[in-house]
Amino acid sequence: MLKFVLNKLPSIGKGVSTLLNEQEYNEMIKRCLRCSICKWIPQLQIKSQKYASICPSIDMFNFHAYSAGGRIIIALALEMGRLKPSKELMEIVYKCTECGGCDVSCKFLNTLEPLEIIVKLREKLVSLGYGPMPKQQKYIKSIKNSNNPYNEPHENRLNWLSNDIKIEPDAKVLYFVGCTSSYRRKEIANATARVMNAANYPFKILIENEYCCGSPILRTGDKKSFINQVNKNIDIIEKKGIETVVFSCAGCYDTFKVDYPLEREYNFKILHTTELFNDLIEKSKLELNNQVLHTVTYHDPCHLGRNSEPYEKWDGESLQMMPLVSINMPEKPKRCGANGIYNSPRNLLNKIPGLKFIEMERIKEYSYCCGAGGGVKSAFPEFALKTAKTRIEEAEDTGAEIIISACPFCSTNLKDGIVEKGSNLSFYDISELLLMAIDSPTNSVKESSMEVT
Ligand code: SF4
Ligand code: SF4
Repeated sequence: MLKFVLNKLPSIGKGVSTLLNEQEYNEMIKRCLRCSICKWIPQLQIKSQKYASICPSIDMFNFHAYSAGGRIIIALALEMGRLKPSKELMEIVYKCTECGGCDVSCKFLNTLEPLEIIVKLREKLVSLGYGPMPKQQKYIKSIKNSNNPYNEPHENRLNWLSNDIKIEPDAKVLYFVGCTSSYRRKEIANATARVMNAANYPFKILIENEYCCGSPILRTGDKKSFINQVNKNIDIIEKKGIETVVFSCAGCYDTFKVDYPLEREYNFKILHTTELFNDLIEKSKLELNNQVLHTVTYHDPCHLGRNSEPYEKWDGESLQMMPLVSINMPEKPKRCGANGIYNSPRNLLNKIPGLKFIEMERIKEYSYCCGAGGGVKSAFPEFALKTAKTRIEEAEDTGAEIIISACPFCSTNLKDGIVEKGSNLSFYDISELLLMAIDSPTNSVKESSMEVT
């Protein structure tokens, strides 16, 4: 009987992944409950009033439109023709770091996809001739012309590489350095390569052919240009016969791991350096012999944590029961962020001799964003900075002396936050910390030019 009833229900979506198609988007934007759960970390995870919020956007602008729920109302009003794109509307849609915190919280209770709705809303605005924001358009142009968003000459991409770093041209492992480590956070590229050298782990780099992964383009809604980057990068990696690609940038890692397969399948393996280093230590290929007598806390990058959870294949159908109620047959897997990379960085920190590691209040899939993502750092720097200062304060409250993370983009913004706040905290990437713990004559952390964008 149930089967008969279901057969009669109209299908509003059918697919093999959990990405929203047009019909699902239009149906889903009507189903926001206006409950505002997306502004907070789930109740059971709240440890204090001070650190109960999850959404940097609502924290900064304090008006419902600047939350996931608010943006979903905007999406609906646009579809219904009750709103037209305007400068003010664009600012609201783009003053969001796409950190995905709202997505995790909403799914605690609901079956909505707030992050996917925000991403698709931006794509729609771009396709209508609005967006990305002017400064984001500038960096997209730079990616097209110079393969990086910093408007730096492509030929300077390898300036981070010092002579004593050993590259193995015939290796089947590629270290994909990424734009931020290549041009702005060279110390991270350097430390990553040195740790791999210390473990005698052979790797190569793309001497002339490393291009932006496309994450800054995708996050701001220019899907067409993003697909160009996907094809450019997969073509070159496959042509070189690479078997494994290693990333020290959480943004590049997430983009390759989660977003690329939605556009084009590939058959190489991908690893974040925290996964690789953990594995090398477990196989006794990397030894941490030096005491690092510091107290540290760890910031989960959104792109290494909740947003790096891959989409699970779903071969099903959404059926409309009532105007605002639908069911998925079979049940659609919920991408809640719990399967992000959380253990690898923590295992590494716990293995460093002498190191004391203390957690912040908001961690793992409930982590608070550093404030830089979704094109915010370039388009709304004061918003990015305010969010970084909030996160730095949370780190200070642990009593740690050092904040560690595993992403060059978080590094840039959190360092800016430290300076702006006048904090006594220091920031290191986890690769730099590991280098301090490795007993090797070439293990010193080399601070390269610390210019900050
Ligand atoms: S997006 Fe989700 S959590 Fe936020 S108001 Fe809508 S239903 Fe509630
Ligand atoms: S993605 Fe982050 S900043 Fe944007 S609405 Fe969700 S929680 Fe807020």
